Amino acid sequence: MPIWRMLRGLPSWALPLTLGVVVLLLPLAGLGFTATRQIQLVCILALLVSGLNLSLGYAGQLALGQAAMYAAGAYTAGVLSVAGYTDILVQLVAAGVVALAVGLLTGVPGLRLGSWSLAMTSFFLVLLVPDVIAILGDVTGGRNGLSGIAGATLFGAPLGPDAFYTVVVVVAIGWFAVLRNIVVSRHGVAFRVLKQSPVLASSVGISVFRMKLLGYAIGAFPAGLAGALFANLDLYISPEAFGFTLATTVLAASILGGSTSVYGAAVGAAIMQLGPNQSTEFQQYALVFHGAFLVLGGVLLSGGLAKLFRGLVARLDRAAGLTGPPPTDPGAREVDLPALRGATLAASGVSKSFGGNQALREVTLRAEPGRVTALIGPNGSGKTTLLNMICGFYRTDAGRIGVGDTEVQRLAPHRVARVGVARTFQTPSLPAGVSVLEAVASGRYLRQRASMLAAVLRTPGFRRVRDADRAEAERVLDLVGMAHLRDAEAVSLPLGMRRLLEVARALVAEPRVLLLDEAASGMDEDEVDRLAALIRRIRDAGGTVVLVEHNFRLVLDLADDIVVLAHGQVIAHGPPSVIERDPRVVREYLGIRDADEARSTELTGERA
Ligand code: ADP
Ligand code: MG
Repeated sequence: MPIWRMLRGLPSWALPLTLGVVVLLLPLAGLGFTATRQIQLVCILALLVSGLNLSLGYAGQLALGQAAMYAAGAYTAGVLSVAGYTDILVQLVAAGVVALAVGLLTGVPGLRLGSWSLAMTSFFLVLLVPDVIAILGDVTGGRNGLSGIAGATLFGAPLGPDAFYTVVVVVAIGWFAVLRNIVVSRHGVAFRVLKQSPVLASSVGISVFRMKLLGYAIGAFPAGLAGALFANLDLYISPEAFGFTLATTVLAASILGGSTSVYGAAVGAAIMQLGPNQSTEFQQYALVFHGAFLVLGGVLLSGGLAKLFRGLVARLDRAAGLTGPPPTDPGAREVDLPALRGATLAASGVSKSFGGNQALREVTLRAEPGRVTALIGPNGSGKTTLLNMICGFYRTDAGRIGVGDTEVQRLAPHRVARVGVARTFQTPSLPAGVSVLEAVASGRYLRQRASMLAAVLRTPGFRRVRDADRAEAERVLDLVGMAHLRDAEAVSLPLGMRRLLEVARALVAEPRVLLLDEAASGMDEDEVDRLAALIRRIRDAGGTVVLVEHNFRLVLDLADDIVVLAHGQVIAHGPPSVIERDPRVVREYLGIRDADEARSTELTGERA
């Protein structure tokens, strides 16, 4: 398999770029008019699909308005052309901006309300397109279509068919390069974090609304470009081209190629364009076909062709000996943990009720830097709720929560994260399709800034941030003894490892307060030992640790202070030596007759 080894040694963009250049040069091989026209239509559809892939596949926003933004782009370019502005660059920019505006205008209400309302608003947008075009009949030509579009020019020179072909392919290649750079950057991981869960996203400091909007906007832009190219391809546009059939074609191509992929968009577009869309008979039944296809595709082909391709690559890698058996665990290495600027976490009089259910009743908890504060109590006693209130996911009914000098009880979750609160989740929350290293590095989102534009252009600043993210993530992975798993898929790890990974993700944020929700549950003995060693080091480095844990031995072992909750109220607090003898704790919480038995028992029981 030497050829395969050589291919794998190339950077990941080399092959797609080569293919792009081949397509670019095809007219030189004497390709006829019909063939070049089809290739241009593939490029145009690929632009549309790639936008959907970003907003739906990566950011998880069910936005179906691609066809409407495409129409906006096409009519912008067409109207400009009729008015005499034939320069293709001017039209591309204008069409991209108008598509963006239409996308934002229609996206914002949907994004505010949630994913299904976004699907609804964008869906209605598509249905409205022909009517809007008809209403604006004076400029758009109404249902008769817009004719009189002049051939495109570039810097004053008219573009012949071959030159225009070059423009279309170059725009497509350029856009795919932009998309690829976004997807492999920290912003691409941030989109996947958002898709996994908005709660997770805000816990690492990502503004959920802003990120959704960005994903949606970036998805709209290529649709505008596609529209401008389409208007100049046939020099005639009419409302039928932008209807519901197109919307379903785009969705079908996305799912076929694999929504969570960059180049899958081009593959899906090529198959849809060169396959079924060819015959006129098919056009009649397109909607039925697409509908059936979407249902089947959704069921049988999750991940699309991109997933099959990744599977094939993995197999070839194995055959070529590029991936041996997973490397053995070298154990935790000695790595320095730099000093942490822990802050005092002070919650006082915090109450919260969900309807009639009083989950927390005037809870007071104080956690100091350089100390481990354990929060224990039976299931349903309010431990997770208290962590969620500290993180800003729920509003307090009463009470105050301070982190250092900052009051956080009124802050949005991503702002609380920026104040320095990091956490793990009772049910580990990790984005799909992301490596262990990337998942850990996502915890550094708020530590350093590197704009999306910097990521697209790969500026030196962007590279610095990326390298620092990686170095820091590797260091912490070493610390938890998971360095050998850095390239594994994060979600595929066993539960205990995923918990350690979450701690690592929280730690790279250099948090001032670290909240661990049932950190050790589901861990084997070795993992519990690693976790305990890690928590001690975080404490010794000056971190503030709040540990929610059911393993009573571990709590007695690790905690400097223990707070006991029952039915949403603090029933005891103090050092372990006091708590393990407190008759009320032993009776009410542990449900065990004497204290000696308590010390030797790992608490089990239903986990919420
Ligand atoms: P613990 O983490 O100690 O097991 P929780 O904080 O998860 O307990 O739950 C405390 C109480 O609050 C439970 O009665 C639970 O049903 C309730 N609760 C927690 N979150 C919500 C919510 N989002 N909506 C309604 N009730 C909730
Ligand atoms: Mg809980």
